[in-house]
Amino acid sequence: MKDIEISSIDDSTWIISNGSGNGKTHNYLIEGEDYAVLIDTGLCVLDLKGITQTLISKEVIVINTHGHLDHIANNHQFDSIYMHPEDEKVLEEHSSYEYRHHLIAQRIMDKGCPNWLFHLPMIQEELDKHCRLPKQNKYKELYDGQIFDLGNRVLEIIHTPGHTCGSISVLDSKKKRLYVGDSVCEKGVLLHFDHSASLDIYQKSLNKLRDVYPLFEEIYPGHQMYPLSIYWIDDYIRGIDKINNGSAYYTKVVSNTGTGYLVSYGRATLSCPESAIKRI
Ligand SMILES: [Zn+2]
Ligand SMILES: [Zn+2]
Repeated sequence: MKDIEISSIDDSTWIISNGSGNGKTHNYLIEGEDYAVLIDTGLCVLDLKGITQTLISKEVIVINTHGHLDHIANNHQFDSIYMHPEDEKVLEEHSSYEYRHHLIAQRIMDKGCPNWLFHLPMIQEELDKHCRLPKQNKYKELYDGQIFDLGNRVLEIIHTPGHTCGSISVLDSKKKRLYVGDSVCEKGVLLHFDHSASLDIYQKSLNKLRDVYPLFEEIYPGHQMYPLSIYWIDDYIRGIDKINNGSAYYTKVVSNTGTGYLVSYGRATLSCPESAIKRI
């Protein structure tokens, strides 16, 4: 749980990763001349603010790409949090002890840890630390087109509902990079949650990203491989076309996040709700 990796993309951009396997989350620290933005705060509770202070001495504000538990765990360490208001209920649920305990314990068991391990006081204590988050659900509202001027470096918010209704992407056009949270990922995008937007809305979000193609060349997701090329977005768009025209095959997968129906196209894998694949 304590795995932390820090690497830099350039002399004013860092990737702070925590966790392990496919669930490892990438948080991005982006520095301007006046202040810095940290995109997401991870799954594992760790001294993230302390880590940012070893890298830069400027004020750091947090932008959450969405409200899922693996992107918000260390929000409480920062004074200024921004999130899209459509993820308010998700943030509330995913900050709760019960929800975090259910998902984190399940992830550990999926790695083959036996049940008796959870009765050891040491393990219970460690798990408790990662599930009982200090209350910090206050945030400032993000909106589509919002600009953060960090000082000689401007970030723009693009509302990209799909994975969740409040999902956003962050465009750093000076460096030609797009930070997408869980909206485009190497191992697939989950769209089967009750709080996910419809496939049509997700496809509109992807088209919106495609419309600003000349402004970015690399995609930095919240998990797995980075950077991804812009062509990943095309594959996700075509994957939805395939579902809509009835030519997709799907595989049913039941996991601790619910039941999803997997559809693949090229590099893209979409996990859809049953209601979406009925058209197949
Ligand atoms: Zn997510
Ligand atoms: Zn995630």
